[in-house]
Amino acid sequence: MRMRLAIAGGGLGGLTLARILHRHGIDAVVYEREASRSARSQGGMLDLHPESGQLALAEAGLDDRFRSEARPEGEEHRILDPAGRTLVHHTPRPGSFAGRPEIDRTVLRDLLLDSLPPDAVAWRHRLVAATPRPGGGFGLTFDGGHRADCDILVGADGARSVVRALLTDAGLSHVSSHVELTIDDADRRHPDLAELVGPGNLWCVGVNQILAAQRLGDGSIRVGISLPADDRDLDAYRDTRALLDLFDGWDARLTALVDAADSPPTPRRVEAMPVGARWAHRPGTTLLGDAAHLMPPVGEGANQAMLDAAELARELAANPADPDAAIRAYEEAMFERIEPIAEMCARVQAMMLSPTAADDLVRFFTPRSATPSSGDEEPVAAPR
Ligand SMILES: Cc1cc2nc3c(=O)[nH]c(=O)nc-3n(C[C@H](O)[C@H](O)[C@H](O)COP(=O)(O)OP(=O)(O)OC[C@H]3O[C@@H](n4cnc5c(N)ncnc54)[C@H](O)[C@@H]3O)c2cc1C
Repeated sequence: MRMRLAIAGGGLGGLTLARILHRHGIDAVVYEREASRSARSQGGMLDLHPESGQLALAEAGLDDRFRSEARPEGEEHRILDPAGRTLVHHTPRPGSFAGRPEIDRTVLRDLLLDSLPPDAVAWRHRLVAATPRPGGGFGLTFDGGHRADCDILVGADGARSVVRALLTDAGLSHVSSHVELTIDDADRRHPDLAELVGPGNLWCVGVNQILAAQRLGDGSIRVGISLPADDRDLDAYRDTRALLDLFDGWDARLTALVDAADSPPTPRRVEAMPVGARWAHRPGTTLLGDAAHLMPPVGEGANQAMLDAAELARELAANPADPDAAIRAYEEAMFERIEPIAEMCARVQAMMLSPTAADDLVRFFTPRSATPSSGDEEPVAAPR
């Protein structure tokens, strides 16, 4: 009998897994809670790392498509102080794919969706419960009452994973707060802001707060504000005036990034699982990506989710007769790989929102062999 493999969650991790399995002739159904691929904005840009995100795309047979859609110029980054002075200006080599080229999330997700058969994703299927069946596998219940059975269930259902509860009771801690805004059609409507941000990322680091902006391929600018995890009422920041009060005394060109936003500010808690979280193997199920190892957002989460997918697919393809042995091998290697990365993410996150963040960040982004300004060496991680 054919193995029925269900993937809960059609984000970057779940779709990468479905695509690589499909290339190996293994069918999987992706159950995704959203109504369609365009139901929700997928957010900003990602830089894909050669040893993780790019490697997974190569295994998915999508490296050429990635190169034609990526924006290597998006690697340019600028760090300013609140007075508007430039502390770091990094310019990548023109057209170079040697580093970590950026790609818009929506473009990357579309690239994966386009590579799958149309019926591979069951949209509007929010998993609400997975119940073990007596003979093995799981009965799945979706919002609205749909049901399905599977032999193997992979939880790729992100930060608030439902599948995670089958394997671990590791909780989430609040690591920072994030407020997001968007400025549409920046070149035409706000050329001064388009010029300030440039083709990539801009960060301005104050005391215990960061104002960041990034240029997307569709000509919009995505603005993000990072604040420490404290007990402030985030709903207060749905109001642009309250947000602007946070930047009292900052250069007017920087606060204009908040003032010019077309979307209402969207605040949210940023959470993480404990560093080193593991679980004892349970037959018939596993986790990948944020469901397995939610980390502070400093440029690793999507890359590691895609690498998890590639490694799990490789194990399942190599051992189709014994999927539990394949899952066990994947989990052992994944736990070893993720722990030091999660430690690094926690360290960088703590540094980013500390009182000395500006100095630390400049040091962090300054190539070891050079003085600050421009260069084409890669930093080890980037605050996002
Ligand atoms: C502000 C911010 C910036 C970031 N920047 C970067 C970056 O630059 N580089 C980087 O590598 N990472 C970055 N990350 C982290 C990255 O977004 C995540 O690690 C990555 O998206 C994880 O992929 P995933 O597939 O595991 O989960 P997700 O991308 O969250 O996908 C999960 C999918 O599951 C679906 N889903 C959820 N629950 C259910 C359910 N019950 N039933 C069915 N479907 C469900 C969701 O709709 C979603 O489509 C950032 C994160 C944040 C918050």
